[in-house]
Amino acid sequence: MTVGIVGAGQLGRMLALAGYPLGLDFLCLDPSPEAPAGQVAPLLNGAFTDRALLRELARRCEVVTFDWENVPVASLEAMQRGAHAARIAPPASALACGQDRVSEKQLFTRLGIPTTRWRAVDSRAALLAAIDAVGLPGVLKTRRLGYDGKGQAVVRTRAAAERAFARLGTVPLLYEEWVPFDCEVSMIGARGARGQVVTYPLCGNAHGGGILRITCAPFGRRRWQSLAARYLKRVLAHFRYRGILTIEFFVRGDRLIANEMAPRVHNSGHWTIEGAATSQFENHLRAILGWPLGETRALGHCAMINLIGHIPPRARLLALDGVHLHDYGKQPRPRRKVGHLTIVEPTAARRDARARRLALGLAAGARIP
Ligand code: AMP
Repeated sequence: MTVGIVGAGQLGRMLALAGYPLGLDFLCLDPSPEAPAGQVAPLLNGAFTDRALLRELARRCEVVTFDWENVPVASLEAMQRGAHAARIAPPASALACGQDRVSEKQLFTRLGIPTTRWRAVDSRAALLAAIDAVGLPGVLKTRRLGYDGKGQAVVRTRAAAERAFARLGTVPLLYEEWVPFDCEVSMIGARGARGQVVTYPLCGNAHGGGILRITCAPFGRRRWQSLAARYLKRVLAHFRYRGILTIEFFVRGDRLIANEMAPRVHNSGHWTIEGAATSQFENHLRAILGWPLGETRALGHCAMINLIGHIPPRARLLALDGVHLHDYGKQPRPRRKVGHLTIVEPTAARRDARARRLALGLAAGARIP
């Protein structure tokens, strides 16, 4: 049985590596011949809009999923039509919503999920009106195609906002309040074919320069866990979702404020490979194939540290007791996620101390969520 993956990045690679023990085969589509998943699974090399390759993917696969949130929705919709119509999971409607920060915010509000105060901005006048309505400081973000802090600017004055607009304003934008959060968390869960839902222990996330650096899980108060799970379930039900969905939140006191959602497996869930009874990758596959979902309980106190830019000497990492290394097979490049480390410890205190030491040693930013 073959699973198609549109996008062959590290998420696709980890999906394939989780699927082989279950007896699955994979076929990926990606414009890069060196894409990480293409090193472990057959690759159709071409554009995400290449109709012939999309048809081939649809014809050869039992179900087609995606590992990147900016895959063209029209490509997925094209695969759902014609003689060899593919089953697409998660639904293209969830992908379309997650690609536009405005529709994402509107959905959160409609489902009673608190989110930041915001305004759409498509002109200088709209920006000034947005600042009047939302206040300063704020964050100006592109509505589409932003990731890892790209396409956004924190603004503290009107003059800074106008400078940011001059830089970003060639595309539709969104202006939102800057949230002085206590911490950032993410909730990851899966919904199966019959509507059954499982949720993972909450993840605590520390970012640096807009990029996720460290995740700790389980994390936070019990109230945050139940609130985040309740919010996630509303979005899952809304889309009659199949697969893994992630929502990122800012935490202020006992309030969770939704920042964004990702209709896919997520970087903050990589700890589940060694640290949970069933990994997010396996549960995504189980969900999209209509199989029973696996248990999500944590097997210890876990930390995941992203390796950014380059992989440090392997022998040095592997000499560290209990450190699990994941190398995505990517060329080194500044700000690029090239791998990650996971540790699973018996107590939270030990996990935090080890994660701090590891991050310091890697110069990965020592802040622990
Ligand atoms: P995003 O691309 O929206 O996930 O933003 C990346 C990171 O920038 C977030 O994880 C936060 O650390 C920070 N950030 C984004 N928006 C805000 C905001 N409105 N207030 C405070 N921090 C933010």
